Amino acid sequence: MALTGLEIYKQLPKKNCGECGTPTCLAFAMALASGKGSLDACPYVTDEARENLDSASAPPIKAIKFGNGSILGDETVLFRHDKTFYHPTTLLIEISDALSDEEIQAKLDEINGLEFDRVGLHYSIDGVAILEASGDPDRFAKVVAKVAAGTERSLLLLSENVDALKAALPSVAARKPLIGSATEANYESVVNLAKEHSVPVIIKAEGMEALNTLVENAQKLGYKEFVLDPGSRNPSQTLANLTHLRRLAIKKKYRPFGYPVIAFTAKADPLAEIAEASVYVSKYASAVVLKASAKAHILPLMTLRQNLYTDPQKPIQVEPILHTVGDVNENSPVYITTNFSLTYYSVEGEVEASKIPSYILPIDTDGTSVLTAYAAGKYEPEKIADALAKSGVAEKVNHRNLIIPGYVAVISGKLQEVSGWKVIVGPRDSSGIISFTRAM
Ligand code: SF4
Repeated sequence: MALTGLEIYKQLPKKNCGECGTPTCLAFAMALASGKGSLDACPYVTDEARENLDSASAPPIKAIKFGNGSILGDETVLFRHDKTFYHPTTLLIEISDALSDEEIQAKLDEINGLEFDRVGLHYSIDGVAILEASGDPDRFAKVVAKVAAGTERSLLLLSENVDALKAALPSVAARKPLIGSATEANYESVVNLAKEHSVPVIIKAEGMEALNTLVENAQKLGYKEFVLDPGSRNPSQTLANLTHLRRLAIKKKYRPFGYPVIAFTAKADPLAEIAEASVYVSKYASAVVLKASAKAHILPLMTLRQNLYTDPQKPIQVEPILHTVGDVNENSPVYITTNFSLTYYSVEGEVEASKIPSYILPIDTDGTSVLTAYAAGKYEPEKIADALAKSGVAEKVNHRNLIIPGYVAVISGKLQEVSGWKVIVGPRDSSGIISFTRAM
């Protein structure tokens, strides 16, 4: 179990020098106890104390890295509003080795095509889970090699057959795949195989008690690069297990469960499967393996993930400079909005759909939406007039007409006065832009 702040304090040097970034050793001990610091910050801690305090200073959920930049775990809070979530759920799409070579290639092509641009950010699916369903280690090894050659994405080698993992792993070990699963029946062989190749491994057991026992036994093999699978494939039970695991890791600092967790979808219908995966992305899977691979199914899941893993204290922002949509000319309309990405890209999408090349000037509102910015005094006429003057748009157009969001119609008179531009009140919502341009 986790050490208390006072227990940690007893092991610290008690110099109160402040070099760790906290004024006293006691404050540092309290920070360590709450998982908010690293023992490495104190240069004077003895080796003996370091050994004793190692688990106290470790993050509540270990970070496990694999494949092409995939990072699982290393989360410190139960709820996003407590602080933030750090590592978006890794999404992997399953390919079975029981499929034909043509079917595997088609699935791989579909997976490689899963690239999305949303609110100025680019996303792609994170990885491929290769499932051994053929019962043939040679076939599994061949399919793993084929998938590895056909994609840069992270790899998960999924089999409980030790021979199959032994046949497939060596050729892709340099890609550092995640492998699994180590179960009660095979854990010594699978964990030792993972240790030999320095790759992380899934520890799978049915239910919390069995998982606890298996993790403790697996740790005795001298390896801790684990990802936990509580075994259930029923959504409500899986959600309960994921929640229990996260609570025990974060709130109780229960070390056997201080590892990231993986979930597998069970629903056959793609829409039901995405709904199921959404539950696991929301609470608290570090990785989810799913079968659906159509863009229309994956995009909503990635959108949900993006929204959850955006730091609520740092809204996504666009650069507050003059943007163009289409082949602008001196007659192009000029819109203003805010630099909150969701607002800006909603406006940009509708302006693009209007098919009228236009200028858009997002005002720097620290990434807040129009009404929030106005309420906070960040959307004042003087500020907008200043941004307008600095943008240089006056030299690019031969008119002085400025379209403002309908929600801030109240500033139109003052803005007209301080900017010298004629202010046209646009629609309240970006969805009204097309009909607004038609009526202009
Ligand atoms: Fe204490 Fe070490 Fe921090 Fe100095 S650096 S205040 S000795 S914990």
